[in-house]
Amino acid sequence: MRRFSVGLTGGIGSGKTTVADMLQARGAALVDTDRIAHQLTAPGGAAIPDIRAQFGDAFLTAEGAMNRARMREYVFAESTAKARLEAILHPLIRVETELAAARAKGTYLVFVVPLLVESGSWKQRVSRVLVVDCAEQTQVRRVMSRSGLSEAQVRTIIAAQASRQERLAAADDVIDNDGDSLALVPQVDKLHAMYVSLAAAHDQRASD
Ligand code: ADP
Repeated sequence: MRRFSVGLTGGIGSGKTTVADMLQARGAALVDTDRIAHQLTAPGGAAIPDIRAQFGDAFLTAEGAMNRARMREYVFAESTAKARLEAILHPLIRVETELAAARAKGTYLVFVVPLLVESGSWKQRVSRVLVVDCAEQTQVRRVMSRSGLSEAQVRTIIAAQASRQERLAAADDVIDNDGDSLALVPQVDKLHAMYVSLAAAHDQRASD
């Protein structure tokens, strides 16, 4: 039987990384699918040969990483490009996340999956879905101050992701992150305690 696991998701700038770090500090093991996707498309990454074969050298940087800015533009402009890129990345991400999960120690596993609701198969792979939720205006403000993107650019990214309602409909647990970071502490403490006891019950069933 698989280990007890939480799929942590939320829109861009909602606070996924912040909440994931807090759960890790309390003893959860993190598997960050975004970081894995970055490693796969970094110089020497496992996805690079297929990206070169499919899209050509023009989509690589001088260092041999995927040229993210160029790929992002192309994927917006060319209707089949997104599916072709995902066909390369998704199986590799799946293998790498399974390996990272098998190596992970922690009390329970947290998979950080920005597009969990959009991607379909993730929901079946985790024991519970945790959504970090905030108003769209809060997302816009946070991402603008972190990245230097314009409001229009941030809103375009948000519009391409699942809506707040779709995400909440998929959630087993929700963290409200419209407040300050102190307001996160009791919410994270409460969920962590619940996950520890659910993980213990899960492991008990597995050993019966
Ligand atoms: P995500 O991983 O979902 O994109 P982050 O956790 O990186 O979101 O948060 C986005 C930005 O907002 C970061 O700069 C983070 O430090 C900040 N942030 C997150 N939660 C809060 C909060 N409750 N109050 C103030 N800033 C926050």
